[in-house]
Amino acid sequence: MSEAGPTIRQCECAVCKADGEAATVRYHQQINLFLSRLNEPQRRWYVGVISEAVDSPSDRQLALITGLDEKTIRRGRHELAANLADVPAEKQRQAGGGRPRAEKKIPR
Ligand SMILES: [Zn+2]
Repeated sequence: MSEAGPTIRQCECAVCKADGEAATVRYHQQINLFLSRLNEPQRRWYVGVISEAVDSPSDRQLALITGLDEKTIRRGRHELAANLADVPAEKQRQAGGGRPRAEKKIPR
C-alpha cells in the first residue's frame, strides 16, 4: 500500500471470489476504492444510485460487493428519493476534507 488511508474492501461476490470476468472484478474494485474515500452517508447514497441503474446488481449482490447492509442500501435509496431533504448540504460540505486553508502567507 502506498499512502496511509482507509483499507479498501475486497469484494465478496461470486465473480470476484472465483477470480472471474476481469471487467466485473475491476468494476467492483473501483466501487470499493471510491467508497473508501467517502463518508458514511455518501457511501450509502452512492450505492443507492448504483442500485437504481437499469442493469444494477440486486441489493443482496451490492451488499456482498460493498459490505454495506441491504438495509443501509435501501436507506440510501430512500434518502435520494426524498432529495436528501433530511440531510442539509452545509453539514456535508464541512465534513469533507477539502483544500487546506491558505493561512500561512509569508509577508514580504
Ligand atoms: Zn465482485
